[in-house]
Amino acid sequence: MLDHMDIQCASTAFIVNPQKNLLIDEADYVCHLTRHPLDHSVIKCIAKVAEKERQRTNSEGGSQAGEKRKNEEGFHLESYLCSGLDVYLATEPCAMCAMALLHSRIGRVFYLRHNTLCGALGSRYKLHTHSSLNHKFKVFCSV
Ligand SMILES: [Zn+2]
Repeated sequence: MLDHMDIQCASTAFIVNPQKNLLIDEADYVCHLTRHPLDHSVIKCIAKVAEKERQRTNSEGGSQAGEKRKNEEGFHLESYLCSGLDVYLATEPCAMCAMALLHSRIGRVFYLRHNTLCGALGSRYKLHTHSSLNHKFKVFCSV
C-alpha cells in the first residue's frame, strides 16, 4: 500500500544541461510498482546520472584520467554529479529528493505544482534557503 508521502512525490524527473540544451537523463516514479522507498523519480534520475558518470570515468581510465578542476573553495567539481545542471519536475520534491538534489549540487529546480503534504522546496519546507547548508540552488514553481 502506498503512503501519502510517496504519492505526493510522484512525478517524472528530467535532468538537463542548460548550457548545451541537452537532456542528461530522466526517470519515472516507480515506488508504487517496486515498493522500494527510494524509488522516487529524483533519486532514480540522480542514480542514472551517477551511473553514466561512473561509466565515463571508467572508460577514460578511472580517476587518473582527465584534469580535476577545483572551484574557489577548493572542491573538486567532478565529485558533484549535477553541478550546473537543472531538474524539471511535475511535482515539488519531498525532503529526501530535495536533499539528494542538494548533495548532488543541482543548479536549478523547476516544478509545476506544489506538494502540500511533504514538499521541501516551498510548500512545507524551504530547504534550499537554509543558511547552514553549503550549497544553494534556485527553485522555480509555475504556480
Ligand atoms: Zn521524493
